[in-house]
Amino acid sequence: MTPLVFDIKRTSTTDGPGIRTAVFFKGCNLDCRWCHNPESKSPRVQLGLLTEKCVGCGVCRTVCVHPDSCVICGKCTENCPAEARKLYGREYTADELHGIILADRDYYLATGGGVTFSGGECMLYPDFMAELAEKCVNSGISVAIDTAGNVPWSHFEKILPFSDCFLYDIKALDPDLHKAGTGADNRLILENLDKLISAGKRIIIRTPVIPGYNDGDELEKIKAYCARRNLTHELLPYHAIGESKKAALEAINHL
Ligand code: SF4
Ligand code: SF4
Repeated sequence: MTPLVFDIKRTSTTDGPGIRTAVFFKGCNLDCRWCHNPESKSPRVQLGLLTEKCVGCGVCRTVCVHPDSCVICGKCTENCPAEARKLYGREYTADELHGIILADRDYYLATGGGVTFSGGECMLYPDFMAELAEKCVNSGISVAIDTAGNVPWSHFEKILPFSDCFLYDIKALDPDLHKAGTGADNRLILENLDKLISAGKRIIIRTPVIPGYNDGDELEKIKAYCARRNLTHELLPYHAIGESKKAALEAINHL
């Protein structure tokens, strides 16, 4: 299966070491209640409406030939004069993505950067990630994987030969708390992390700090857990950007 991409961020300094290109893939098997990329959750193309941009001109209704059941043809997004309509998700071949990633190779080499595959959960697509990562590695580009780790270990085994860094989320250590926040317990996530440590990969643990969820004792436990394993630990601040994107997706459902 070819995963869809919902964003490509070039010259990023927040998606791993150095300057990087971050490629964000759609589809996720967690359901974090604070998700700041709600457009990443579904693996399919989605239509969104940025209500704050809409000027009410009605062009979208004029051009649409499927007003009762959207077929995601994109005509309204192409014709909207205010760029208020947006399609989330586009298919790229591994060669197309490799070409985009390659364009900034000099930045990566000068800063110890590279490419980061992110999401959503990019590790839902291990064959595609391995294919793309191999192309990058063969071009001298370092590959990092940004993952929540909630996938079978066999998925990691496919990407391990081509990646040298993992940005690995720990949102909570307590299984019940993890389930309450994300919809899944963390047994598999922590098992995979132990295996990654044994594999000798560079690992950066990342914890989104969510007020009222994991910003108290739980955060201290996560810090101690990382310290015991000698793992680099980064805290990600909570921001509400996901709310406006969620609203854009939901606005379409209420037209
Ligand atoms: S979404 Fe775009 S085309 Fe539709 S009414 Fe708003 S501004 Fe006009
Ligand atoms: S994408 Fe826009 S134009 Fe196409 S079917 Fe959906 S609402 Fe209509």
